[in-house]
Amino acid sequence: MTPEEFRRTGHALVDWIAEYRAGIERLPVMSPAAPGATRAQFPAAPPERGAPMDVVLADLDRVILPGITHWNHPGFFAYFPSNTSLASVLADLAAAGLGAQCMSWQTSPAATELEEVVMDWLRQMVGLSRQFTGVIQGFASTATLVALLCARERSTNFSQTRGGLQAEEKPLVVYASEESHSSVWKAAMLAGFGKAHLHLIETDENHALIPKKLEIAMQDDDERGMRPCAVVATTGTTNSTALDPVSDMAMLAKLWGAWLHVDAAMAGDAMILPECRWMWQGIEGADSIVLNPHKWLGVGPDFSAYFVQDPQHLVRTMSTNPAYLRTAQDTEVRNFRDWGIPLGRRFRALKLWFVLRDQGVEGLQARLRRDLQNAQWLKEAVDAAPDWQRTAPVHLQTLCIRHVPAGAADGAALDAHNLSIAETINRGGRAYVTPSVLKGKQIIRVSIGAETTERRHVEALWAELRAAARGR
Ligand SMILES: *Cc1c(COP(=O)(O)O)cnc(C)c1O
Repeated sequence: MTPEEFRRTGHALVDWIAEYRAGIERLPVMSPAAPGATRAQFPAAPPERGAPMDVVLADLDRVILPGITHWNHPGFFAYFPSNTSLASVLADLAAAGLGAQCMSWQTSPAATELEEVVMDWLRQMVGLSRQFTGVIQGFASTATLVALLCARERSTNFSQTRGGLQAEEKPLVVYASEESHSSVWKAAMLAGFGKAHLHLIETDENHALIPKKLEIAMQDDDERGMRPCAVVATTGTTNSTALDPVSDMAMLAKLWGAWLHVDAAMAGDAMILPECRWMWQGIEGADSIVLNPHKWLGVGPDFSAYFVQDPQHLVRTMSTNPAYLRTAQDTEVRNFRDWGIPLGRRFRALKLWFVLRDQGVEGLQARLRRDLQNAQWLKEAVDAAPDWQRTAPVHLQTLCIRHVPAGAADGAALDAHNLSIAETINRGGRAYVTPSVLKGKQIIRVSIGAETTERRHVEALWAELRAAARGR
């Protein structure tokens, strides 16, 4: 493709994206595609010859779109917000156009330095002190794995330079709440701790970790010849946005010389609102923190922000420094390849930069406050409805609710009833929610926060939920 052909097709593609976003509300939120339906539309063998790009663009509509679930749809109330604002789309286009590989400072100085700038802006936006330095990781799951690797190496004084975990005398233990994200469990496995050394701590009626239980577990493990290594606190669990007591957990981690990692993947975005910062009180005691601008701040995936107190330790854990990667500037600059797992890095900093230039911090704050108010509106509506229950506090924009008709008892029938309400909503195409299980009970989880979601969409969802509960 020549630059001239690119110009023509590129304009058409930008128009296509604009049309898609402008008309997104008319599409069914959850893709109705059956398993294999998309694949069946492609030839089994790769194309031998090239085709005009307009044909390819037409195929976007014909074969791709029906298989897309629309995360930027105003009726998207499933999982978590993952909004990609159009400014972020433009940034991705610019990054792809530049096609820069940003593994070292020298391989694109602007990418490294813009990353330093936007990560420091973000640090200020969420109210973290200068003790923290930020770096972009792809996803929170990767950041949490990096955190546990750093914890492992700190506890063992760099066992990786000797016999690794296999040569350690005492097994190392990781602690997190039973409501922590599966990425914490996965990271503990991948970092070699072993499932037997991942201790999931009980939660209270608000689904937050009980510090007394953590204290006892750490004590017991020590007495049994194990070594507390890392504590993972969640600010805003995935299921219900429960808030683990970060202060208490920081104290316990410190007492045992364990690493404190805070998983604030979704709720961390809300810390751009000063009125939300009580939720992670004690955060300055964390060794590492992850939050995802690619969830609620309008920055398209992949953009996970990882903050650490001790960047030198991170680099010592992650760097390899073979001769072919050394450059003359290594003592003066940051080489972000040594701040994470992959060597190669995309120019992701552009996305946050574009979004902030477009909306400003105030624009983002106003949108998040709108979403919080929409969640409070729905909470009040649910609380006022006699047949509906809430099974978790509404700290942010997620509601865990269930329909309990008069006289119905807990059990399989009630669970099936609520599952069927969620399925009815999702098949309807106007809204998309997530059925989930909280403390053994089937719930309907409503997560508000698409950029396009206004109050009227939340009102429409509530009307649909009640209609579905009545069996229509
Ligand atoms: C979404 C989420 C994750 C996973 O984030 P990815 O960036 O998709 O890896 C981890 N923890 C919590 C609390 C989350 O909400």
